[in-house]
Amino acid sequence: ENLSGHLPTRLKGLDEVLCGGIRFGVLTELVGPAGIGKTQFCMKLSLLASLPTKFGGLEGRVIYVDVESKFSSRRMIEIGVSSFPDIFHMEGMAQEMAGRILVLQPPSLAEFTESLQQIKVSLLQHQVKLLVIDSMTAVVSGEFEQGPPRQHSLGWHISFIKSHAEFSRIPIVVTNQVRSQSIDEIPQYAFQALGIHWSHAVTIRLVLEAKSGERFMKVAKSPISPPLVFPFNITSSGISL
Ligand code: ATP
Ligand code: MG
Repeated sequence: ENLSGHLPTRLKGLDEVLCGGIRFGVLTELVGPAGIGKTQFCMKLSLLASLPTKFGGLEGRVIYVDVESKFSSRRMIEIGVSSFPDIFHMEGMAQEMAGRILVLQPPSLAEFTESLQQIKVSLLQHQVKLLVIDSMTAVVSGEFEQGPPRQHSLGWHISFIKSHAEFSRIPIVVTNQVRSQSIDEIPQYAFQALGIHWSHAVTIRLVLEAKSGERFMKVAKSPISPPLVFPFNITSSGISL
């Protein structure tokens, strides 16, 4: 069993600076512009969390809250087959792993809220090893029907999600789309979009950006790591450094 309290990303430099990968018990935010690779990253993490322990995974269930219907099981299988060909060609393995990943697509803010409450129960009763919320921006940007005052309910959602992480001691990964293209400005944009409460709730922030045709990932907030920047790309096997 993985006792280090991290979900390894298998992105070598990143796991090193994060002291093992995505930390259990806290919120990790992936922030960056549209198309940069946040969802691709989340799909890779989902695979890694569901991978059998004998192959270095967490052999757990994953709850993937797919707010914008951008999750693709076809693409996830492609990433799996390309990243772990030996494992994925074992009979029944692709189905077994896909079966561990529960994708929720709440159609409204009310149902998003309700699914958070159900998740709380699932986290305790089942072997859930990763919760993904992709994306938080969509939850607050008014894509859902207009509800009660947004800031008030946002504060409630943030506290609830953070307490999920602490309570269940699993990693929670949340994406946040921002318009800015500059890696140094992105944290400010994220701050403007979701506010100070959100900013404080996030323990680790990874900022993704594109610059002159290349993609970069920066550890923008972390209690342990320096603000390092890594180039990365996206291939058939998903995110790679
Ligand atoms: P949004 O904020 O709009 O949700 P995102 O950050 O989640 O954006 P992703 O959907 O993760 O963005 O990334 C999409 C990008 O991933 C595509 O633009 C493409 O460059 C890359 N990509 C997707 N599939 C493949 C593939 N099979 N091979 C190579 N690159 C791919
Ligand atoms: Mg996305």
